[in-house]
Amino acid sequence: MRIVVAGAGAMGCRYGWKLFEANHDVLLADFWKDHVQAIQQNGLEVTTETSTLRVPISATEPEHIKGAADLILVLTKATQTESFMTHCRHLIGNHTYALTLQNGLGNVEVLEKFVPRNRLLAGVTMFATELIHPGSIVALGSGSTYLAPVGGDITHKIQLIVDTFQEAGLNAILSTNLQQIVWNKVAFNCVLNPLSTLMRASVMEVGSYSNIHELISYLLDEIMLVAKMEQVYLDKEQIMTTITEQFNPATSGHHLASMFQDIMKGQKTEIEFLNGAIVKYANRHHVSVPCNRLIVDLICMLEQIREQQ
Ligand code: NAD
Repeated sequence: MRIVVAGAGAMGCRYGWKLFEANHDVLLADFWKDHVQAIQQNGLEVTTETSTLRVPISATEPEHIKGAADLILVLTKATQTESFMTHCRHLIGNHTYALTLQNGLGNVEVLEKFVPRNRLLAGVTMFATELIHPGSIVALGSGSTYLAPVGGDITHKIQLIVDTFQEAGLNAILSTNLQQIVWNKVAFNCVLNPLSTLMRASVMEVGSYSNIHELISYLLDEIMLVAKMEQVYLDKEQIMTTITEQFNPATSGHHLASMFQDIMKGQKTEIEFLNGAIVKYANRHHVSVPCNRLIVDLICMLEQIREQQ
């Protein structure tokens, strides 16, 4: 399968590497010149628990890629999707599918401007990956990939994409309930990401706060209320358990939330697609979500202060 990874950051490189290793024609598309050059010159450096590999995968700017892709795997930050995809229009043919595994709400709506619904897949990734320096990622631990067709029908091509991911060791799980998988991850991210960012602390340190369960509980109540208005019914206990499991140093307790990493790198966070989206949906349904509103303002303030420093 000819796969273009649109946005070859930490996660794009991880998926690109696994699909390349499974003998697919994978092209990493990115605009970060130092990163692209490092991969072109030395291959992609991948550090796992057991070794460091040099993967001879292709990387270039999207404009330099010729011909339609079978699949465009979208792994830019949610804030970058629209502008990135405008540079990928020439890669979208009549049989090209697109898959987003980005965090947040609203990614599908952006992709629908480029690829018809019946050729769109969306989902979430439960892998965690860090980009250490240009051309180099750390791909620790395992995870899984939950995928669902946006149009609802599981066609032959959609099954082929799922099988491709499965055979590449990406633990692909096909779901027919897109909203459920996306909202579960959104709820998780809306709690852990801003708390870790605002406290400038690891996930484990956030978890050590004496009143953490009550704090998570009232944040989740607002998110569940908005989800319910969207006809999505979340299991609070299950999400609480998933969140508290992250506090364990043996899982990802030492992990710095990606939002915190974005702030440290001076990059825009995905707040607009997480708590920001909760506030937007809440307004649409005329319900009040004051805690999420406060979180959005605090993160936006942090972004602006960082910009001015
Ligand atoms: P990332 O920040 O590593 O990369 C996103 C884009 O930003 C890429 O195009 C990358 O080249 C560019 N970029 C990164 N650092 C840069 C720098 N210093 N200068 C210039 N450009 C730079 O993002 P990611 O972590 O791969 O996330 C992609 C999507 O996957 C997001 O929606 C994220 O929420 C989601 N996700 C990530 C993880 C993870 O562990 N990384 C886990 C689950 C979901």
